[in-house]
Amino acid sequence: MIISEKKPIEELMLMLGDAKKIALVGCASCATACSVGGEKEMAELKEYLEANGKEVVATAYPGECCHKLLVKKELKAIKAAGAEAIVGMSCGDGVGTVAEQIDIPVYPANNTLFLGQVERVGMFNEACRMCGDCVLGYTGGVCPMTKCAKSLTSGPCGGQKNGKCEVNPENDCAWIMIYKKLESLGQLEKLDMLIEPKGHAAYSYPRKINTREVKK
Ligand code: SF4
Ligand code: SF4
Repeated sequence: MIISEKKPIEELMLMLGDAKKIALVGCASCATACSVGGEKEMAELKEYLEANGKEVVATAYPGECCHKLLVKKELKAIKAAGAEAIVGMSCGDGVGTVAEQIDIPVYPANNTLFLGQVERVGMFNEACRMCGDCVLGYTGGVCPMTKCAKSLTSGPCGGQKNGKCEVNPENDCAWIMIYKKLESLGQLEKLDMLIEPKGHAAYSYPRKINTREVKK
């Protein structure tokens, strides 16, 4: 799930500037789970904007704001309503998806933070940095790219203390976690397998995938 948090409202108001007629675009997927772009947050933002001199002329709540076709369906009504600006209440992907398809300025209500796992409702942990070359099979399922503050792929840096990371002692050292996990799996020999430092080719941006391509 993509994890986002709300931007300070002052920053959003600054971006909106003189625009009076505003449209809101939420997202029924990740942004709703993060409580930043669901129907409740849309109603709250509408109330705030209208109490501060704006008029919310249209709202849209696509199933997924990063889905071009789902978003496209909503944009006609937003245009017809005469919106001067759109507030995207999804992750940056969703905001970009709206912006790409309409010639009205789109402003993000949120900061997009990371790809994370849901610990409990409202609690998220960063779990994968989408490096494009997954090594979890060698590390007991613990991601060294994400869980190690230095993204070290072949062992600890030597700075850990009592199993905690030297960069942020609130976090467990990723490589101690990897050791313990491999030990519990009876796979400590995997520590002998050198994981090459990651090149950048696998995650040179922007990446594209077309699963419709016929593979030979
Ligand atoms: S190694 Fe880590 S960052 Fe890379 S794909 Fe696997 S989980 Fe994601
Ligand atoms: S102490 Fe562990 S988690 Fe922290 S930077 Fe060093 S190897 Fe990575």
